[in-house]
Formats: sequence, structure tokens, C-alpha cells
Amino acid sequence: MFDFTKGAIKFIRGGRYPFCHSLLVDDQIRMIIDASSDKDKLQSIKDQGPVDYLITSHAHEDHIVFNYLFPESKFWAHPSDAPFLADLESLIDCYGDMSEEDKKRWREFLQNDCHYVPRKVDLFLEEGTIMDLGKVRMQIIHAPGHTKGHCAFYFIQEKIMFTADLDLTKAGPYYGDRGSDIEETIQSLKRLKTFEVETYLTSHGKGIFDGDPANIDRYLEIIYLREGKLIEFLKTGPKTLEQVVKEGIIYGQSPNALGAWDLTLTEKIMMAKHLGRLARIGRVRQEGEFFILVA
Ligand SMILES: [Zn+2]
Ligand SMILES: [Zn+2]
Repeated sequence: MFDFTKGAIKFIRGGRYPFCHSLLVDDQIRMIIDASSDKDKLQSIKDQGPVDYLITSHAHEDHIVFNYLFPESKFWAHPSDAPFLADLESLIDCYGDMSEEDKKRWREFLQNDCHYVPRKVDLFLEEGTIMDLGKVRMQIIHAPGHTKGHCAFYFIQEKIMFTADLDLTKAGPYYGDRGSDIEETIQSLKRLKTFEVETYLTSHGKGIFDGDPANIDRYLEIIYLREGKLIEFLKTGPKTLEQVVKEGIIYGQSPNALGAWDLTLTEKIMMAKHLGRLARIGRVRQEGEFFILVA
């Protein structure tokens, strides 16, 4: 049933997108973080007794797929992401400027494949709060960057860190929403490294990692590698954002579709954020449509 257990903390691996891994705390208070892994397993947890709390680590479609199984649980999310869980159109708007046709595709995907049901958050996840669940004490860590309201969760006694979508995969960090931010992603990752951890649990991929901060460093390094490739490309001459996107530095030159994702749009948003960051530190200047490497 579980892929990892330590005391009352239990971990269920989910399948590929649009699913993610779930975490159960089976204590005096029963709590699930990200009910988006395995319908049968989540149902059997529910059959064993009430689930008091349902937490969604951040407002992304692949973290909510089975939330509908827990309508009676108190629903928690960070205030910055709460509006997107309560309104379908505002969630779609997070993903950037889209044609009406793309929005329609997203609406269908969110409703049919991700079982999106608008839901008001009952309780806000607040940075620094320590939740007493019985034996287990869990610290809420606001770790923005991936989304504005993205949270990680630290289990103090067990020395387990659930890093959610700072997922330590080889694919590297995602910061392709309107509200995503590279600098915040870097700061959040650096902060997660400061906790004493035995095991990192993540939302995607392998999901279970040694609590060695080198795992975070490797993941962080991918951001700098992307930036390095962008600089190399700009060394060949001034480029428009369109030309940078065609280079496919993150997702390759003709990325496959993933659910309703148009990865070309994601590439564009993420590369625009990298160019913005390079401009802020004076490595790039913009002339009309062109980005020019300085020095
Ligand atoms: Zn996400
Ligand atoms: Zn995810």
C-alpha cells in the first residue's frame, strides 16, 4: 500500500502527470497532502476513518485530481494560491496568455482529467506554523517560486521534508506560470537545504531521496545550466524571444504535448523570466525586440 513509512507518516507514489505522489499522516488527526496519486489507495484510507485535513501544496492541476473524494475534510492551501483552487478561469489564467481555443482545451482537461471542482479553502497554510497532529509535528514552509503559494512541509521529529514540486527530478525546476519566479525558486531551494533532513519526499519522479543537500544542489544547478546555455546562444548575436524559444533550451526544439500543456508556451514564459533576470543583473540589454548580451 505505501512506498515509504516512518511512524505515522506514509507515502504513496502516484503515476505520471496528471498525477503526483501523496503523503498521509495517520495520527490522532488524519491528514492527506496532495490527494492526486492513486484513487483506490486514497479511497481505502478514507474507508478506514475520517480524514480530518486535506492539504493541497499548491494550485496545480496535478495535485488535486482526487480531492473530490474528500468533500468533508477541512481544506488547506496557501492564501496566494487559494483563489486558483476556487475558480477555474483564474487557474487557467495562471498558465499565461492563451487563445480562446487553448483555454477551451484547458477547461476540458481540468474538468474531465483532473476532476477540477471549485473549492473554497477552509484554512490557510501560513509560513512557520507548526501543526500538532498527535505524535507528529509538522512545520509549514512557504517555498514560493514554482507558484506564489507553493509550500513544503517539514516533519520535525521524523526529519522528513516533503518538498512538493521542488521535486528534485532531472527535468529540473518549473517556473513557467505567470506568478512563478526564478529568484524565489532559488531562495526556496537554498532555504530547504538548511533543515536537518533524513529523507526528502517529493511530488514527482523517484519521490524518495536521501536527506543529502547535494540532491538539492544538483536540482538547483539545472537553473544555472539553463542560464549558461541561454548566454551561449546570445553570444552568437542579438536574438528575439521567439528565436530563443525555438532554441528549445529547456524542453527541446519540438516538445511533445503533456496533457493540455503547450510546452512551447512554457518555454517562452520561462525563457522570458531568464532574460528578465539577466537584464536585472546587467548581463543583457533589450533593443526593440532584440536581447543583446552585454560584455
Ligand atoms: Zn506544480
Ligand atoms: Zn506537480
